[in-house]
Amino acid sequence: MKAGGRNLLIDAGISLKEMIKRSEFAGIDLSQVSDCLITHEHVDHIKGVKGLAKHSSCEVWATEETLISLDEVERKQTLIPNEPITLGEAVVTPIRISHDAKSPVGYLIEDEKSRALVLTDTGKRPVNLDQYINNLDLVVLEANHNVRMLQTGPYPWSLKKRIMSVYGHLSNQDSGKILSDIVRQAPKTPYCFLAHLSEENNKPQIAVLDVATTLKEEGIIPGKDVSLQVANQYTPSKVICF
Ligand SMILES: [Zn+2]
Ligand SMILES: [Zn+2]
Repeated sequence: MKAGGRNLLIDAGISLKEMIKRSEFAGIDLSQVSDCLITHEHVDHIKGVKGLAKHSSCEVWATEETLISLDEVERKQTLIPNEPITLGEAVVTPIRISHDAKSPVGYLIEDEKSRALVLTDTGKRPVNLDQYINNLDLVVLEANHNVRMLQTGPYPWSLKKRIMSVYGHLSNQDSGKILSDIVRQAPKTPYCFLAHLSEENNKPQIAVLDVATTLKEEGIIPGKDVSLQVANQYTPSKVICF
């Protein structure tokens, strides 16, 4: 994400080789990343951080507890949840979320032109989310599972319980409710990428359908009031400019 003259990357959960391949496909030079903002220490979010820090000269930002899991990573910087930092002309606020990690956060990224929210890996709506969701242009929002698919799916009960807990992941319906509130407070038509979809307990078309159903119940028309897309786990999404 380009903001305030900086090249920001949120998490690096795939190998460096795969990151280079995907960023080239999207026309982005990965060696120019200036700051990598880490949400939490689960492997699907930090796998490529060490490689990225060697490949570029980026600073790696995370909360103090998360940094413990990044011991071999160069150029680490500490974030405090809910305390904004300034990177170039951009203001970045780590937002405390609820997940079974040491000190997980989502991110609000603002510059003079636009505001973006990245919110994944949270079992419930962050308590102070309302103060961050006005005037958003872009949101990357977790739609992890369809509740029925999870309940009737192959996961062991302990894992199902973990995913549905307040330290787990947002369901498609949870995501639709949060997005409704975001759309109501957006001056223009915001873009929303549904992200972190479970391979076992969701499908892209089901996530869109579930979120769209909740939006419509709230009087919001997908496609008109919000541009709704799914972030694919294996291929880059289209590049959006504001
Ligand atoms: Zn996680
Ligand atoms: Zn995750």
